[in-house]
Amino acid sequence: MILETKNLEFSYPDGTKAIDDISITIPEGKKVSFVGKNGSGKSTLFLLLNGTLKPKSGKVLFGGKEVNYSASGLRELRKKVGIVFQNSDDQLFAPTVYQDIAFGPLNLGYSKEEIERVVNQMLDHFGLQSLKDKPPHHLSGGQKKRVAIAGVLAMDPDIIILDEPLSNLDPVGADEILDILNELNGLGKTIIISTHDVDLAYQWSDYVYLLSSSKLINEGTPGFVFSNDEEVRNSALKSPFILDVYRELEKRWLAPGNAQPKDIP
Ligand code: ADP
Repeated sequence: MILETKNLEFSYPDGTKAIDDISITIPEGKKVSFVGKNGSGKSTLFLLLNGTLKPKSGKVLFGGKEVNYSASGLRELRKKVGIVFQNSDDQLFAPTVYQDIAFGPLNLGYSKEEIERVVNQMLDHFGLQSLKDKPPHHLSGGQKKRVAIAGVLAMDPDIIILDEPLSNLDPVGADEILDILNELNGLGKTIIISTHDVDLAYQWSDYVYLLSSSKLINEGTPGFVFSNDEEVRNSALKSPFILDVYRELEKRWLAPGNAQPKDIP
């Protein structure tokens, strides 16, 4: 189902405007990145998308219908739009890994047998069986992230939103999480991440939203969004490394009198 916003606005109680007139239709079944420097509004937008925050004005729509902010409306939305926080410690609070993954299905009123089935499926799938009785806060960063994703996936959402999913992970842990995200996308789920890592956004995403100072600056394929170098730099981001290399090569090869590719041994 399609997740959209229309003229979305949000300010925090202290008056900080965090989202300024954002209207988007998130492409279904794609790998989507929200790119922007710290403080550009990514986390706030994500909390609006799954109903944790309520807009000051404008709307969030899921499946073409405006979000219903009653307890039952929010439960329905969160079943379909799961969110994984940047800091796993904000997400994992049960005494054991097993109970943490079971929390969502329990809340949704699944039967005991169904919960056992789903949690065991998640533990197997994410290689967490041997850790199931451990307290989540004893795990490594990568393991915690896997538990957090497993807990969200246990509710079988259509859309999974992950706030800076690779932050604080070593390269091996980051690759594991990227493999999981790609696999989930292969199963038809829309995967939405936030990042200030332009190289990741350029290489991983099907579709990119560029945010700056609470506003949507541009959107489209990574090639399209990052080709506007000025816009990217005005958003206080660097250009993706691979594009810089390409531009540099183009400059050298295309400048009159310079070596052409065929001349380079
Ligand atoms: P990002 O995720 O891109 O780093 P945020 O959504 O966290 O951006 O922040 C957007 C703006 O809202 C920033 O100016 C930030 O300082 C402000 N902000 C975020 N959380 C709060 C809060 N709880 N109270 C007041 N201002 C906040």
